[in-house]
Amino acid sequence: MQPFNKEGHRRASEQNYTILCIDDESVNLKVLASIFKDHYNVVACKSAKQGFQHALQENPDIILLDVLMPEENGFELMEKLKQHPKLSHIPVIFITGLQDAEDEEKGLMLGACDYIQKPFNYGIVRARVNTHLEIIRQRNLLQKFALFDSLTELPNRRKWLQDSVDYWMSAKTAQSAMVYGIIDVDHFKKYNDYYGHQQGDVVLRKIANTIKRALFNYGGAIFRCGGEEFYFYFPMEKNTTTANILTTCLHSVTQLAIPHHAINTSCRVSVSIGAIQVIPNENTSIEQVMQQADERLYLVKNSTRNAISLLELNPNNQQIPLDIA
Ligand SMILES: [Mg+2]
Repeated sequence: MQPFNKEGHRRASEQNYTILCIDDESVNLKVLASIFKDHYNVVACKSAKQGFQHALQENPDIILLDVLMPEENGFELMEKLKQHPKLSHIPVIFITGLQDAEDEEKGLMLGACDYIQKPFNYGIVRARVNTHLEIIRQRNLLQKFALFDSLTELPNRRKWLQDSVDYWMSAKTAQSAMVYGIIDVDHFKKYNDYYGHQQGDVVLRKIANTIKRALFNYGGAIFRCGGEEFYFYFPMEKNTTTANILTTCLHSVTQLAIPHHAINTSCRVSVSIGAIQVIPNENTSIEQVMQQADERLYLVKNSTRNAISLLELNPNNQQIPLDIA
C-alpha cells in the first residue's frame, strides 16, 4: 500500500471532505472505508435508493458508485443524480467489476469523472480520489475569489446579485419585511487625495468590518458593490426599529474616530445611508427598490451627509418617508 502523497493529502484535507460510497457488497464498503476513514468523513450504503437519500442529506464532495446492484443499478442512479439540481455537480467515480470498454464508455458518457475496475489497487483508488478532491478544492477557491472582494473580504457585487434575489424571494414567500440599502463613504475622494490610496484602503477595510459586525447582530449582510459603496439588507426586527439598526451602523463608523483633515481638522470619516423598508411583493422588484435606495442616498449626499434617509414602500408601492431621530 502506497502512503498518502503528503502534499496532495495536506491540500485536499484542508476541508473535511465527505465521501459517499455505494456498493451492495459489505466487503467492498469495508475496504473503501478502511482506505479513507482516517482522512475523510466516509458514508457507506448498500443500495442505490439509500445512496440517493444520503446524497441529498449529506451533500457529499464525491461519490464512489458500484454499477451492478439489485433493484436499481449504478448507471440508473447516475442518471437520477445528474437530473437533480442539488446533486448534479457532485463528481462520481464508478468502481465496478464490469470490464468491457463499452461499460466504461457508458459510465463516462453518463457524466462520471472516473471509472475504476475491480479488483482495484488501494493506492490507485486513493490517488484518483485525492486528485478529484484537489480539483474540488481549487474549484471552491476560484468560486470564492469570484464572489468576494479581496480588499475588504466582503462578498462582492456578483454575490449581491445572487443573494439579494434569494432573500427577496424567500421574504416574498414568507411575507416578511426587509430593509435594503446603500452605504457610501463621505468625501472619500478627498480622503484618498489627502492621505493616499493605501490609507484609503485601510479606512475601507475598517468601515466594512464595523458595519458587517453591526448588521450581523441583526441577521443582515453587507456587500462591496463599488469603490466606496456598500449594499446591504437585513430582516425587520421585532425588538428594535429599522431606524435604530441604521443609526447603529452610522455611529459604528463615527466611533472609529478616523480623522479626515481634508475637510477640516475636527472632521471624522463618516458614511451616508439610503434605505428602503419593504415587504417584497408582485408590484416591485429588488432593482426598483435599490433604485429608490440610491435616490434616498442622493438626498443625504446633497445635504448634511453622515445621516440616513429611510423610506417605507407599502404593498401598493406608495412611499412613506420615515423619520430618523
Ligand atoms: Mg455490486
